[in-house]
Amino acid sequence: MNRKSIHVVGASLAGIRAAEALRRRGFSNRIVLIGDEPHLPYDRPPLSKQVLAGSWDADRIQLTKPEKLEDLDLDLRLGVRATGFDLDSRTLATSNGDEVVDGLLIATGARCRTLPGTEGMGGVHVLRDLDQAMALRAALDAEPERVVVVGAGFIGAEVAATCRERSVEVTMVEALNTPLARVLGDQVGEICAEIHRQHGVDLRTNVGVARVEVDSEGRVANVVLTDGAEVAADVVVVGIGVVPNTEWLEGSGLTIDNGVLCDGTMLAGPGVTAAGDVARWPNHRFDEVMRVEHWDNAIEQGVHAAERLLTDEVDARPFTPVPWFWSDQYDRKIQLAGRIRPDDDVEVVTGTLEAHRFAALYGRKGKLVGVLGFNRPRHVMQYKTMIEDGISFADAIAAGV
Ligand code: FAD
Ligand code: NAP
Repeated sequence: MNRKSIHVVGASLAGIRAAEALRRRGFSNRIVLIGDEPHLPYDRPPLSKQVLAGSWDADRIQLTKPEKLEDLDLDLRLGVRATGFDLDSRTLATSNGDEVVDGLLIATGARCRTLPGTEGMGGVHVLRDLDQAMALRAALDAEPERVVVVGAGFIGAEVAATCRERSVEVTMVEALNTPLARVLGDQVGEICAEIHRQHGVDLRTNVGVARVEVDSEGRVANVVLTDGAEVAADVVVVGIGVVPNTEWLEGSGLTIDNGVLCDGTMLAGPGVTAAGDVARWPNHRFDEVMRVEHWDNAIEQGVHAAERLLTDEVDARPFTPVPWFWSDQYDRKIQLAGRIRPDDDVEVVTGTLEAHRFAALYGRKGKLVGVLGFNRPRHVMQYKTMIEDGISFADAIAAGV
């Protein structure tokens, strides 16, 4: 299917990889890439790791080299915000004015949830974009007495690790029993807790934040927890999850439900696809409607959603990946491929939980559905291939890699 033009909204990982895929597929008409940040597309994973540590600067994290970007011949509009869309008239409203679009790819990602009452408070940070990372880095450069990290999810765990590498004192507060409990389960969450504590993090679990108190200049001074404890802090980092950026699509005629709801091929409406953290779709491999907030998915889905805009209904392929991610914390590379649940069967196939170096397989209804590795990258990737191949749990255990 040919299109007169394709507008990609969101100039980050999913958006730029989509634009590149369109050119690779030979699409030579106009591609408009619209992003509300002022920066050229950049990579987010280093923001909580090397950039925050101070070892990398912003020029190391560009997603596409300037020469390559030039070759893509994009109508690149940075600092421009999409404010509305109407499916019937195909009108895209932006901070630069309205225009009628042919193909539209939505890749507006997600933004951080904030802790109610702390918005605009001096010394309180969230971490999603480059400017926020540089602001937090500057706060760490000022050698704070103590950082309180609220939420021991990915942001919290990685920021805590980077702070400790910079010898900054950290208290991490988590409402659940263990860090990353929802993703990794309590048993592995407990291992994460041990790792943080071994590295000197004062980890408080099963407790929330009651309020954040400020000094006479309006800067954070104290975090009061729901168990009554008070923690003095001059920097607070809030990592309590994200909200998909879909407000601009309210009333558009697309289905918005915890993200942009797509069909199994990433089509959200006629001539409209979505990809990355903002997209929700039925992944038939796992019989689950999912929204994945990880790097590899943004790339693969960006490419798929781009190709879908060039494909007729009859040739459309479902998007059925085995999602995976990594997280670097201290000297541990944690990787998970597949979808795991608390009641899955679990078998450690190499290493031991006690040593904090292992690969564990997860089985459901006799099928291999997940693999989790702590410093076991080769195992994770090999078992990921077995999940893709639909191998049984028993065969995966017997296979030994
Ligand atoms: P985003 O990267 O969120 O980009 C969306 C873009 O759209 C943004 O530039 C946004 O400003 C823009 N936008 C939003 N609304 C509008 C609008 N109305 N108009 C125009 N533009 C708009 N994943 C891993 O697997 N491993 C990791 O180690 C890892 N580390 C991470 C560390 C950090 C600090 C963060 C924040 C994320 C990390 N991730 C990691 C997750 C990964 O980076 C994301 O899944 C990925 O960035 C999603 O890409 P995206 O393009 O869908 O969305
Ligand atoms: P997250 O992984 O969803 O974790 C948020 C954590 O904060 C959860 O454990 C959550 O518990 C907890 N929480 C929520 N409200 C809280 C409160 N009021 N007080 C204390 N704890 C609270 O989100 P995130 O860590 O903020 O990460 C943001 C995004 O960046 C995600 O999309 C993530 O995937 C991405 N990211 C990914 C990586 C990676 O893949 N390595 C690294 C960094 C960031 P509940 O579950 O109970 O709400």
